[in-house]
Amino acid sequence: MSISGGFIGHGSPMNTLERNRFTDAWRALGPKLGRPRAVLVVSAHWYTNATLLTAMEQPRTIHDFYGFPDELFAVQYPAPGAPDVAQLVADTVKPRWAGLDIDGWGLDHGTWSVLVHVLPDADIPVVQLSLNALQPIEYHVDIGTRLAPLLDEGIVVLGSGNVVHNLRRIDWKRADEPFDWNRRFDEAATEIATERPGDVLELTQHDDYALAVPTPDHFLPFVYFAALAAARGARPEVLVDGYSLGSLSMTSFTI
Ligand code: ZN
Repeated sequence: MSISGGFIGHGSPMNTLERNRFTDAWRALGPKLGRPRAVLVVSAHWYTNATLLTAMEQPRTIHDFYGFPDELFAVQYPAPGAPDVAQLVADTVKPRWAGLDIDGWGLDHGTWSVLVHVLPDADIPVVQLSLNALQPIEYHVDIGTRLAPLLDEGIVVLGSGNVVHNLRRIDWKRADEPFDWNRRFDEAATEIATERPGDVLELTQHDDYALAVPTPDHFLPFVYFAALAAARGARPEVLVDGYSLGSLSMTSFTI
């Protein structure tokens, strides 16, 4: 069985340039995807006021960060777009509305910092789906659920975020040693993802939720993934787990 969906804990943009146990796991994932028609990425970094799909023939590489080395700003990920797949996704989520973006966004680093490792040849079409910041979390569960049939169309669906992502609590002295609240929340999320992904919203009641998820953007791609897995009746597996800088979880999953 090939892998048809996943959630990648992407961490720092510097993972684009680094080789570590996380990027090694992402690299090992690529061959297991086969030759998909396209990859649909739900990226933490396209958090906007509508549900949108990149629908241009050639999405640009967006360097949506600052304070990083020139080498990172020079990275290009020239994968083609797939306007037909964007239209298919828009049709699939109906009656929810998803707009086709033909000249606005592109591929942000939530997508390309991961895909440079997973699909380094950049020869598989990529479409991004935005996170609608105006909607409650139940809306995102619903969209994630509606994406499930796409896996039968040869489309790989990847969430890219971090289960735990608290930039205010970053501790540069901690490389891979988490704060206790990070470990507790990450372990709870892993238990739910792998055992009963349909219960993902239980995590919003977790004692450590406010610290682990101070803003929704990096958590929501995980919600999409869990909802998709539940809709498929899948039991996700951990691709790689671990922590970064105390307050990030790098845990990644596949189905
Ligand atoms: Zn990020």
